[in-house]
Amino acid sequence: MSAPAAPQTPGRFGPFGGRYVSETLIPSLDQLTAAWAAASADPTFSEELDRLLSDYVGRPTPLGFAARLSAEVREESGRDVRIYLKREDLCHTGAHKINNCIGQLLLARRMGKTRIIAETGAGQHGVATASACALFGLPCEIYMGAVDVERQGLNVFRMKLLGAQVHAVKDGTATLKDAMNEALRDWVTNVADTHYVIGSVAGPHPYPLLVRELQAVIGREARAQIQEVEGRLPDACVACVGGGSNAMGLFHAFVPDPAVRLFGVEAAGDGIETARHAATLSKGRVGVLHGARSYVLCDDDGQISEAHSISAGLDYPGVGPEHSFLKETGRATYLAVTDEGAIAGFQRLARTEGILCALESAHAIAALPQVAATLPDGAVLIANVSGRGDKDMGTLAARLGVTL
Ligand SMILES: *Cc1c(COP(=O)(O)O)cnc(C)c1O
Repeated sequence: MSAPAAPQTPGRFGPFGGRYVSETLIPSLDQLTAAWAAASADPTFSEELDRLLSDYVGRPTPLGFAARLSAEVREESGRDVRIYLKREDLCHTGAHKINNCIGQLLLARRMGKTRIIAETGAGQHGVATASACALFGLPCEIYMGAVDVERQGLNVFRMKLLGAQVHAVKDGTATLKDAMNEALRDWVTNVADTHYVIGSVAGPHPYPLLVRELQAVIGREARAQIQEVEGRLPDACVACVGGGSNAMGLFHAFVPDPAVRLFGVEAAGDGIETARHAATLSKGRVGVLHGARSYVLCDDDGQISEAHSISAGLDYPGVGPEHSFLKETGRATYLAVTDEGAIAGFQRLARTEGILCALESAHAIAALPQVAATLPDGAVLIANVSGRGDKDMGTLAARLGVTL
C-alpha cells in the first residue's frame, strides 16, 4: 500500500475509522457504500438475505439458558447470575462469519462483480467465503500468509474442496496482516470486476459499518429471544474480540440501552505483561492499519507487531474502529484472557453444557466470573458462542499433551 492519505469521506466513529487507502480504491469504496445504502432500503434484498440466512446458514440460532455453567459462575463470582448462550457455533460452516459473507456476496452480485477475493488468518473466513462463492457460483481467490497455510492445512484443504484458489503470501511475517495487505493490492489492480470480502468490522469505510450491519442479526435475535424468556433486557453482553465482528454483531442492538453493559474479551496470549498477546485495546496504541485509524499493536517506531493467541481467529494486531470508539467513550469494557484461561473456559463449557466451543469463544466464557462479579445478584447475561471447536482439536490436544 502507498503511504496513507487523509481520510476522504465520513465513516468515522469519533476519531476512529476513515479511509487511509490508495486513491485508486476510493471509487470502489464509494460504490460499495452506495450499493449498501440502496440494498438496505430494498425489500427484495432483505427478503433474499433473510431467506439465505434461514435456509443456508440455519438462522435464527438459539439462545439457551446455561444452568450448570451459571451455577459454576455463581460459585466462583459469588453472584447469583443467569447466563444465556447465543449459539453462533450452530451456523453453517461453524461460526458467525458466514452471516457477513452471504450478505457481501449478495451485494457483489448486485454491483455486477464477477470475481471474489478475501484474506484469511486461521482460514475460517476463507472457508466461509469459499462456501458462499460456491453457493453463488462465483470464482474465489483467498490470500493467506504462508506461515498460516502451513499451520492451517485442514482449512486450506477445505477451501480447495469448495473450489477456491489459495495464494500463500510470503511477505513480512507471512501471517494475517500480510495477507490483508496483499488482498488490498489485488483489489487496487482488479477493482473493476472484483469484490473484496473483508471478514471483520475492520478495514476502510464502509467495511466496519457494512460488516456490523450484516452481523447485527445476532443481537437483534438475542434481544427478542431474551425478552421472550426473561421478559426484560439483559444486564450484560459478553463476546470475544479479534477484529470484533461477532462482538459488534451482538452489541449493536443493545448500544442504545445504557443499562445493558457490554464486555469485549481480547486474547492475552501468554499474558498482557509479555510481548506475546493480541490484546489490542488493552495494550495497543492508536495508529493506522488496513485503511482505518484504530488501536493497533505496534513498536515505538509505529511498526505493526505480530499478535499471539492460542486461537488463530483472535490473532490480529488491530481491532475494528467502532470498538476503539466504544472503549474511549466508556460504553463498552474490554478485558483480556490468557491462553491458559481460554483452555479452562473451553473445558468448563464442555463439562457443564456439553458444548465444544471454538477457542476464540472460550475467551468470552472464561471472562464470565469476572464480568458477573461486577453485576448485582439476579443479573442476566448473554455470552456469544461465536463458533464451534472442531477446528481446534489439534491445538488443544497438543496443549494438553494428548497424542491423537
Ligand atoms: C474469526 C473468529 C473470531 C474473531 O473474529 P471477530 O471479527 O472478532 O468476531 C471469533 N470467533 C470465531 C469462532 C471466529 O472464527
